[in-house]
Amino acid sequence: SSLYRIDGWGAPYFFANSSGNISVRPHGSNTLPHQDIDLLKLVKKVTDPKQTGGLGLQLPVIVRFPDVLKNRLECLQSAFDYAIQSQGYESRYQGVYPVKCNQDRFVVEDIVRFGSQFRFGLEAGSKPEILLAMSCLCKGNTDEAFLVCNGFKDAEYVSLALLGRKLALNTVIVLEQEEELDLVIDLSQKMNVRPVIGLRAKLRTKHSGHFGSTSGEKGKFGLTTTQIVRVVKKLKEVCMLDCLQLLHFHIGSQIPSTSLLSDGVSEAAQLYCELSRLGADMKVIDIGGGLGIDYDGSKSGESDLSVAYTLEEYAEAVVASVKFVCERRSVKHPVICSESGRAIVSHHSVLIFEAVSAVKPTVQQANHGDIQFLLESDGGDYEELYSAVMRGDHERCLLYVEKLKERCVEGFKDGVMSIEQLASVDGLCEWVLKAIGGSDPVQIYNINLSVFTSVPDLWGIEQLFPIVPIHKLDQRPGTRGVLSDLTCDSDGKVDKFIGGESSLPLHELDGCGGRYFLGMFLGGAYEEALGGVHNLFGGPSVVRVMQSDGPHSFAVTRAVPGQSSADVLRAMQHEPEMMFETLKHRAEEVMMMHTKDDEDEFGDVAACLDRSFHNMPYLATEEASMSN
Ligand code: PLP
Repeated sequence: SSLYRIDGWGAPYFFANSSGNISVRPHGSNTLPHQDIDLLKLVKKVTDPKQTGGLGLQLPVIVRFPDVLKNRLECLQSAFDYAIQSQGYESRYQGVYPVKCNQDRFVVEDIVRFGSQFRFGLEAGSKPEILLAMSCLCKGNTDEAFLVCNGFKDAEYVSLALLGRKLALNTVIVLEQEEELDLVIDLSQKMNVRPVIGLRAKLRTKHSGHFGSTSGEKGKFGLTTTQIVRVVKKLKEVCMLDCLQLLHFHIGSQIPSTSLLSDGVSEAAQLYCELSRLGADMKVIDIGGGLGIDYDGSKSGESDLSVAYTLEEYAEAVVASVKFVCERRSVKHPVICSESGRAIVSHHSVLIFEAVSAVKPTVQQANHGDIQFLLESDGGDYEELYSAVMRGDHERCLLYVEKLKERCVEGFKDGVMSIEQLASVDGLCEWVLKAIGGSDPVQIYNINLSVFTSVPDLWGIEQLFPIVPIHKLDQRPGTRGVLSDLTCDSDGKVDKFIGGESSLPLHELDGCGGRYFLGMFLGGAYEEALGGVHNLFGGPSVVRVMQSDGPHSFAVTRAVPGQSSADVLRAMQHEPEMMFETLKHRAEEVMMMHTKDDEDEFGDVAACLDRSFHNMPYLATEEASMSN
């Protein structure tokens, strides 16, 4: 398992067990070993309809572990609680979860439920997000929890946020643009609601990684100091300066180091103190997201893939910076709010998919008959190549292989060489490369997945996630591979892996129906909502898994099949029911035309069509045995 650095990125939730499978310890280190959940056993249960209690779901599948969410929340809260207590900070931490990271109903409901004891709230950035956040918080019954309303706002969004206060929810309207202030003043008067207002500051502190491209003075979001001064003035004029209570900033996701974090927090704390001095009734400093996670297990903070701090160190740096600035300015310590998304949800789900075939570099020894034409036609390339192989002259071999291939491809294009002859030349060249140890051993593993649907950040921003076989970890991988997905798109591939590798150690597919399952880890944030339906491959199946004391140590508490072909067609405005009728009608007509009136055959056609609309678009692999 060290090949895949599991201990680095997986601890304390994922590790290789003694059977060579990946196990999940959803409560982190607080769990007893017999409660570990073996992912292979889980996949078998979820996919195999023949197993007792088997669900017969199709892969790919997202497995959610709500207990991981609970543990993440508890760890975040206790890291801040500890920093607050040990530094003698005189207020509290009260976080919110930015729903954009994963808006799945059960994820948000779980976070509200698990977080209610800490007054944990939600952050919304759009109208549907505020609707879902309001209804989840109503059900969660946590009046003090913040509902931070970020993002660009129109009158409808502002009205919803004000309505939230009427429903006794603790909504805070964070001004993202100066123009939003007029809407807030106007609508709060019309609706007779006293709003709580925050403002998002555009900090000078700049995070230079990919996720920080919108931070700094030229950043896309937030108010400049000039705008902040104008906002204060205007609020004072309308006797609403007491409504301004929160200062927010966000310098970008995956903040690489605590020094950058402290810089940003200190700058924001100064602004906070200034707002207090100007007469606002400041109560909360909201430090945004950015608490990073270690995708590659290196803990180096040298790229967007890792961060050089622990949760505890993050909390310690935030509390120390706010405390230092506020004490120097004699300002009462504010409530510290963070909008950590990635750090809360990334670990909670695993995407499991299958490698269905592998394309090997075919090494076939060309026979004399096949290559006779080379001897007859060429200007000595073959002879040269042959003697270079005999001499073991690698450099010359590579040179002549290239030359020979080039000449033969030209010959093929000119029509003087047949496809069989070209295939023989390819075979010969591969054989030579293999013989001199210069062949590329990397295989292409075809995976039953769409990168665009399930790992969109991999395609869009080259974000890497740990990808690991979920079994056979006690066997040495016999080869290396890159992954190629189902879409007809050359970008639908994974050929970069954590640790800077361009291929992944993989086990040979045994070709006897034994299946090979891979897991993509730490993808619980952002990937689900960003994914599209390229080539009409839709969302995967989803199961929710809790620990249990039963024979399996787990219980599947919810199982939802992935989007069917009908679902994805509907998403592109097609009407599957009508398509079905059209195709059925055509079948009837054609059968009548051929004076065939075979009801059985018609029934078969209709059933086949019906199945295809209802099944998932991914390759069906149920015929593969579950023997391994
Ligand atoms: N808050 C705001 C305003 C954001 O824009 C983001 C994400 O970009 C977050 C919070 C969540 O950040 P993270 O997932 O890094 O915690």
